[in-house]
Amino acid sequence: MAPTTAFKAAVISAVLLTAVSAEEFKYRFVPPAVVEKRLNMYQGKNQQRHDTLRALFEQVGCTGENLRDAPVKHETIPNVVCILKGTTDRMIIIGAHFDMVDAGSGVVDNWSGASLLPSVYDSLRANPRDHTLIFIGFSQEEKGLIGSEDYASKMTKEEIAKTDAMINMDTVGLGPTAIWGNRADKRLTKDIVTVASSMDIKLRNINFETIGSTDSESFASKKIPALTVHSITHDTDKYLHTPDDKIEHMNVTEHYKTYKLVVKYIAYLDKTWGKPE
Ligand SMILES: [Zn+2]
Repeated sequence: MAPTTAFKAAVISAVLLTAVSAEEFKYRFVPPAVVEKRLNMYQGKNQQRHDTLRALFEQVGCTGENLRDAPVKHETIPNVVCILKGTTDRMIIIGAHFDMVDAGSGVVDNWSGASLLPSVYDSLRANPRDHTLIFIGFSQEEKGLIGSEDYASKMTKEEIAKTDAMINMDTVGLGPTAIWGNRADKRLTKDIVTVASSMDIKLRNINFETIGSTDSESFASKKIPALTVHSITHDTDKYLHTPDDKIEHMNVTEHYKTYKLVVKYIAYLDKTWGKPE
């Protein structure tokens, strides 16, 4: 979360729950203890967190030419990009920023999201997929979406046209999963409601444009369908960008539920988006 003005949050509305289709999804969940262990690796400042994220990607099998640092203009710490190849030329981007402000542990905002990237990768890698999945740990989100803007600005017109979705995780696991509905693509919203419903997850729609922005906006402005998953409410926003951004505020049960939802959602999007006419 990159701050803008004072927070006046409101739960706008519970989104409509619909029945899920009988589509078959290919994924496997890593155990809760593994997701929690990765969440607990939030130590250090931005450079160390970049290094930790890279190491975690390597640990789950993203290596060689599939794992790279993508330099960010005027910044010393690059984005981390991990590619999971698909069988078509369509793409889905899954992102989360790993940088933090200079207060607190930055575990809530946003190691909570960044640390899920390797686990989501690990969950989806075993079976073939249609889309190439591009996992990106963004640098310098807190300074104003610097890493994601840089990445999006370097995408060619062709790459943009081939990207079906950008799913962003920012500040997840403070509580139940929410989406930033006001800024989300309509079809992506309908789809995440469908998937959440199939998992008995009551997805919440909580808009936060009054307190800040996040990396999905860098892709939405390129007309790439985008959606951010988060967990911020007017009760928990006080933990952001303060010394109170601490591990004890994390709800590991809800964090794990968000992880599972994102895995199933990506698997669903892979099978339902970008089909030839
Ligand atoms: Zn933030």
